[in-house]
Amino acid sequence: MKIFKIVCSLIIILLVESACVSKKEAQKKGESKKENTVTIKEKKKEEVAKPIKKIIKKLGPKKDDEISLLFIGDFMGHMDQIKAAYNKKTKLYEYDSCFSKIKPILSNADVTLGNLEVTLGVKPYSGYPQFSSPPSYASAIKNAGVDVVTTSNNHSCDKRKKGVERTIKILDSLKIGHTGTFINSIEKTKNPAYVIEKNNFKIAVISYTYGTNSIKPTPPNIVNYLDKETIKKDINYVNSKVNPDQIIAFVHWGLQYKNLPNKEQKDMFSYFKSLGVNIVIGAHPHVLQPMKWTKPTKESPKEDFVVYSLGNFVSHQRTFPRDGGAVLKLSLTKDKDKKIHIKKADYLLTWVYEPVVNGKKEYYVLPADEYAKKPESFTKKKDYDKMMRFVKHARTLLGKHNVNVGEYK
Ligand SMILES: [Zn+2]
Repeated sequence: MKIFKIVCSLIIILLVESACVSKKEAQKKGESKKENTVTIKEKKKEEVAKPIKKIIKKLGPKKDDEISLLFIGDFMGHMDQIKAAYNKKTKLYEYDSCFSKIKPILSNADVTLGNLEVTLGVKPYSGYPQFSSPPSYASAIKNAGVDVVTTSNNHSCDKRKKGVERTIKILDSLKIGHTGTFINSIEKTKNPAYVIEKNNFKIAVISYTYGTNSIKPTPPNIVNYLDKETIKKDINYVNSKVNPDQIIAFVHWGLQYKNLPNKEQKDMFSYFKSLGVNIVIGAHPHVLQPMKWTKPTKESPKEDFVVYSLGNFVSHQRTFPRDGGAVLKLSLTKDKDKKIHIKKADYLLTWVYEPVVNGKKEYYVLPADEYAKKPESFTKKKDYDKMMRFVKHARTLLGKHNVNVGEYK
């Protein structure tokens, strides 16, 4: 019996060992297969990448040396937009479809920034003249690819203290970056700018407005005004606290419906430059105004960049040419000495399409050049013609007055 037991255990041991060996062998085979695939792939890569010069060209600058920023004009919130967003079935305000056609463009940058010209979350929701939109408007703006919004504009205080604070809290809860208004001075001291830290860049965005429609902020709330002393103090503080590679000012200025900047805008741009802020992006006039990139030369090595107005991004302003706007794509590079340079600056035209579908108004921000080639997408020829009128106007205006900033399509 004992001998039988010993024989049996020996057989079991042998069987287990052989099973283990075959498993290991199988694993080994698999590994060598993997190795083979890797080697083949690597060999193929080597073959493809033989001419060294071409590789360098293909790779281009390292991701760390470059950043693309997309700037958008004003996100307005008229009553017609609020009504259009309301879904009777779900009883929710749904804004996502508004940005569905422009989303690929807004998402195609390292960081996308726009001006939020409404307060959020104060009921009853309202349009002009004192804006309050549902929080879902901000969610849709985020879903469309916007990372940062400026909140200092002439509508910042439309819903007084509650509006300023609810807007900030909602943006925080949705993890949307913001700057321009602050709950109190402690918060402004903590975060005097929105700081973009990406691709080895540290860019501080600051935001100011010319005014708040005669409604002053309720203490301790703070709205950043275009006041020279405040700006100087803020920039010095941002430089010492944040030590950014670049400061960009996003400002709310200018006269409404004017195609060209006024003296105050030009003076303010010069003032920003005197403080070392050489990139200024503007909005508010509800129409487009020119964009100028002064490139460096041997005689004057400093470069600067200004957009006087990006126009309306989305609104219910239907009067030509308030029905469209532009997004600006700015690519920055960093050289060996850690100095920032503008690599590229182009704009893309957008237009707000308001069709009525089954008796209900809908809103779409359209990439204008793409839809210029799709007249069949419009239910009424009148709307297509209206968009083309805006496109023609924008191209004529910017074609004549822009400096070194062209259109990208
Ligand atoms: Zn405004």
